[in-house]
Amino acid sequence: MKKHGNLIVISGPSGVGKSTLIKRVRENLTDLQFSVSCTTRSPRQGEIDGKDYFFLSDSEFAAHLAAGDFLEHAQVFKHSYGTLRSEVSSRISRGEEVVLDIDVQGAKQIRQAMENDPLIAAAAQFIIIAPPDLETLKNRLCNRNSETPEQLQLRLDGAVNELKNFRVYDYLIVNGDLDTAAAELTGVLKSIRLRTRNIVGELF
Ligand code: ADP
Ligand code: 5GP
Repeated sequence: MKKHGNLIVISGPSGVGKSTLIKRVRENLTDLQFSVSCTTRSPRQGEIDGKDYFFLSDSEFAAHLAAGDFLEHAQVFKHSYGTLRSEVSSRISRGEEVVLDIDVQGAKQIRQAMENDPLIAAAAQFIIIAPPDLETLKNRLCNRNSETPEQLQLRLDGAVNELKNFRVYDYLIVNGDLDTAAAELTGVLKSIRLRTRNIVGELF
């Protein structure tokens, strides 16, 4: 049986635990691939260029944009972020499964791309991660200790807007207890793999 891959779009407010959950789930679903985004923000301590992000200058980002290299891109918290087509298209057509950690503007662009691109239309599924409450989110973001006060405020202000858009997504996972949320995300990803629309051609 031949199958298309899946394009798994995961969004949620900054600090909700997206990276932590994706990392955790990939320990079990080892064939799950992560699309490395481009960004013009500076690396945080421990972040590796080419693994966590491609950290680009403004002019490098603009060159990719002008060349039409991005499947989606957006300004998020005063920096540019974008998904390279090269991180996604060939992998999906090979039947591989690719996860995007992108914001709601990017998720909406992928929804639009589904209208013109049958491969994306067959592959894309949308998951939003929510915190149990806004206080927990604030604590996680503060405790991560990764942002300037200005960036912290931008991220907290953006959280409510991101969550208001939950109906853009197919699935909602509340990241309260990490083990529970990771098990739920694993379950969703496993069921997505069983969709009939992934099958190319006939069964036999
Ligand atoms: P995001 O990728 O969504 O911005 P991170 O994965 O960096 O968020 O998580 C933000 C912080 O919250 C990190 O310090 C992480 O260790 C912590 N964290 C993530 N999930 C949980 C959880 N379920 N319970 C407690 N802390 C968590
Ligand atoms: P951070 O700077 O905390 O890594 O990410 C900030 C926000 O940018 C998060 O909501 C994350 O999902 C989003 N983001 C990361 N990469 C991309 C991308 O390629 N495109 C879009 N649209 N958003 C992204």
